[in-house]
Amino acid sequence: MRIARFTTGSDPRFALVEGAPGEEELVVVTGDPLFMTVQPTGERVPLARADVRLLAPVIPRSKIVGVGRNYADHAAEHGVEVPAAPLLFLKPNTAVIGPDDPVVLPVWSERVEHEAELAVVIGKVTRNVTRDEALGRVFGYTVANDVTARDVQRSDAQWTRAKGFDTSCPLGPWIVPGLDVDDLAVRARVNGELRQDGRTSQMVFDVADLVSYISEVFTLLPGDVILTGTPAGVGPLVDRDVVEAEIEDIGVLRNPVLRR
Ligand code: MG
Repeated sequence: MRIARFTTGSDPRFALVEGAPGEEELVVVTGDPLFMTVQPTGERVPLARADVRLLAPVIPRSKIVGVGRNYADHAAEHGVEVPAAPLLFLKPNTAVIGPDDPVVLPVWSERVEHEAELAVVIGKVTRNVTRDEALGRVFGYTVANDVTARDVQRSDAQWTRAKGFDTSCPLGPWIVPGLDVDDLAVRARVNGELRQDGRTSQMVFDVADLVSYISEVFTLLPGDVILTGTPAGVGPLVDRDVVEAEIEDIGVLRNPVLRR
């Protein structure tokens, strides 16, 4: 199952996505599947219809929790060790954009980079859960791009500005519940050129580890999102680029890049 949030010009609505790539149809449902039991309304909308626009499949109500250096090969390309425990940071929900929305390069950075990541969408209030309990709190998975102002990440003591600016958290194209995410390809392309090509099996801390660890720090609320880290191959984004983040069995999240 795939759950999308979309608009045809008015208020956002939710739909189940059916059909093969390029032929998807949106089966419109009555509410937000994250918070209620939903029913199909009977309306079916072709995804390719001109007035249909996918939105970020979730706007986190309280937080996006990022995890730094969770792939050894990415830590190595920055010349740092993998941490002994997950390295956490926050992105505000104002950073979230959806598929095809532009990543706007901040004027105060000279080096903005893509980071393709598996994103975990929390489904239940989650506090102090064990590793064994953790996956039962997950609603589903989507694709994220943890866009990072790399120069500012190095020059500021905190990562808040480097990773929290407006448009720095593309999410989408939809949420896939119940997916086995132990060994999925994680890729990024810029203007069609493959830049990152890793697998979730290379994570230092897996999804169950992360949910458990984070739940001992913050209460996670339904709709909160965890970014699970990025594999090697991060690189720059410049004006007029098109960046794609892809997770196998979820989909492709595509965004243009603009300099204001
Ligand atoms: Mg990251």
